[in-house]
Formats: sequence, structure tokens, C-alpha cells
Amino acid sequence: MSEQILQSIYNLTKNYNDPLSNKPLDQNNTNFQVVIKNGNVNISMSINAEKAEDANKLSNILKKNIEKINGVVSVNLVLTAEKNPNQPKSRFQINAKNIIAIASGKGGVGKSTFAANIAVALKQIGNNVGLLDADIYGPSIPRMMGITGRPEANKNKKLIPLENYGVKCMSIGFLIDVDTPAIWRGPMIMKALEQMFGGVEWGELDYLIIDLPPGTGDAQLSLAQNSKLSGSIIISTPQDVALIDVRKGINMFKKVNVPILGLVENMSYFLCDKCNEKHFIFSNNGARKEAEKFNISFLDEFPLDKKLRLQSDQGKPSCIDDPHGEISQKYISIAKNLNQNLNN
Ligand code: ADP
Repeated sequence: MSEQILQSIYNLTKNYNDPLSNKPLDQNNTNFQVVIKNGNVNISMSINAEKAEDANKLSNILKKNIEKINGVVSVNLVLTAEKNPNQPKSRFQINAKNIIAIASGKGGVGKSTFAANIAVALKQIGNNVGLLDADIYGPSIPRMMGITGRPEANKNKKLIPLENYGVKCMSIGFLIDVDTPAIWRGPMIMKALEQMFGGVEWGELDYLIIDLPPGTGDAQLSLAQNSKLSGSIIISTPQDVALIDVRKGINMFKKVNVPILGLVENMSYFLCDKCNEKHFIFSNNGARKEAEKFNISFLDEFPLDKKLRLQSDQGKPSCIDDPHGEISQKYISIAKNLNQNLNN
């Protein structure tokens, strides 16, 4: 299907000339890149900043016509220029009262698990919640939220988020092929992220929870700067190597004036069901001490728990599978605190 769509796109665009090189917009034009995933078309084209107005006109014509092609769900057309004076300042627009980024210095520390559970917990205490999976390195929210299928577009060509457990979800994995990141250089990733805000029919939300990619790269910085975040929550395991990267995260949010709502320590200990003792596998209390050092709230610690891992794998967050359990109650309690602190 993607091949057919690609062919139809080139059949259409070859009749137009690239504003930069004046060559046709066809397969041989390296300045005109087209990537298709599940009917979502992403195109990037470099332009001359001084001729941005003409390029924008062309872009609108192309977008409109490509949208009409059979099988096309949505179209992203990004124009890139060294200096683009027409680039709007706030690119990530959404109708949400609170936007919270869930961040981590490293991958694999439990950031997405926290994002999924806190989204469900906020829903369970009565909020309208959206969950945006922006983890370009390993989008895992659909799996953790038990979502299969992919989003469809409405008549305004906006993607309808997929919903489960009352939470609206959208993942960057639906839009870009994360296995071929080389094609997805900066501007393309930015455009796909932008599409996840303005290009999605989120409706009115009390909370948008963003599962950020781990680390402090351009995508994280851009989202932090442009999406009017209410704040961030940083997830870490307790050991030193993880905490070094946490400091980088703290500094990034401070630099762009995003409040840090708190630090969460994950995999703090393992409670052995044989000897009933806590084993501190990744050291002890590291994140709690780090929070004290930087004068940041310490929100809670979560044990290394087999059930939590299984629940994620099965697409049933702890707060759904075992809502009255000790772990779920921790998420609920954090959600209640957030509600109180952000809405008063
Ligand atoms: P990240 O988003 O930081 O990459 P994930 O949330 O995807 O991390 O978690 C990585 C893996 O660890 C997943 O398989 C998840 O189920 C598991 N996991 C996360 N937190 C815990 C925990 N506290 N106990 C057991 N397994 C966990």
C-alpha cells in the first residue's frame, strides 16, 4: 500500500518544481524526502528562507492534493531552512490545562511504566487525560496501555487518538518508523512531534502526560521549550550512573524554566518473597538524596516488582489490574498531590 501511495505522490509532485533547485519534485530529487507509515505521509523539503512565502504556498497545494490520494491518512510536510523567519514560536499547541513531561536520564528505568500508570491514576480520580508517547527511541505506550490498531483521521484530517481505560493515547510510533532513525533527522522528528499536538483531535484535556525520550537531546529540549509544560517528573533508578544523567535532566529543565514537580525512584529495592527482606539491588536511596541535594520534591519510591513488569507486558497498568494494591495506591497518591498542587 505504501508503495502505491508513494507512486501516486510522485505522479503528482513531479509536475511541480523544487523552489531551491528548480528541479522536478520526483524520485531523483534528494531535497524532497517522502516517508510513509500506515498511511501517514511525512515529507521534508529544504527551502531558501527568503522565499519562504512561495514555498509555503507550494507546500499547501501539495498537502491538499496529497491528502486526496487513496489510502492517505494524514500528511506532514515540513519545510526546513537555515533561518526560517516564519517559524511560529509555540509549535506544540494543545487544549490541555496541565501538561506534564515524564523524563529520565537513561532508558529502561521505568519512565513509560510511570507515565502509563500516572495517566490512568489521574483518570481514576476524575480527570480527562491524554497520554502522548514521544519516545522516539522505543515507543512502548500502546503496548503498555493494551492498545492495538492504529489511529484514523477524521474529516478534518486530524488523527483520532486511540482510547483505553478512559485515557486517550497517541504514539510517535504510529507516525514514524523508529527502526530507521537515520532518515528521521531533527526537523522530521520535530514535525512528527508537532503533529502529535496540533494534528491530533485531543479535545479538552485536564492533563496531557508526555512520555519523553530518555536523555536531554534536541527533541526533549524542543518539547520542553515549546509545549508550555506545567512541569516535569524525573524517573531514576537509585544507582550513581543513572543519577549522573538525572542531573543533566534537572539542568535542562531549569535552563528552560520548566518547574520540576518531583523525582521518583524506581526499582528501589526487591522484596524477596522467600526471606521477606528488602534487597537494594541498585544501591539505596540515591534518588531521594539527589532530590534533597537539588531541593526538589521526592515523590515516592517503587520496588522492583515482577507483577508490575507483567502488567506492563500484558497491557494492563497496575492501576487497572490491581487498583487497590500498594503500588497502585502510590500512583493514586501522587496523582492526588499533582491535582492539588497544579490546580490551586
Ligand atoms: P523506560 O520508559 O524508562 O525505557 P519502561 O517503563 O519501558 O522504561 O520499563 C522498562 C522495563 O522494565 C519494562 O519491561 C517494564 O515493565 C519494567 N519495569 C519498569 N519498572 C519496573 C519495576 N518497578 N519493577 C519491575 N519491572 C519494571
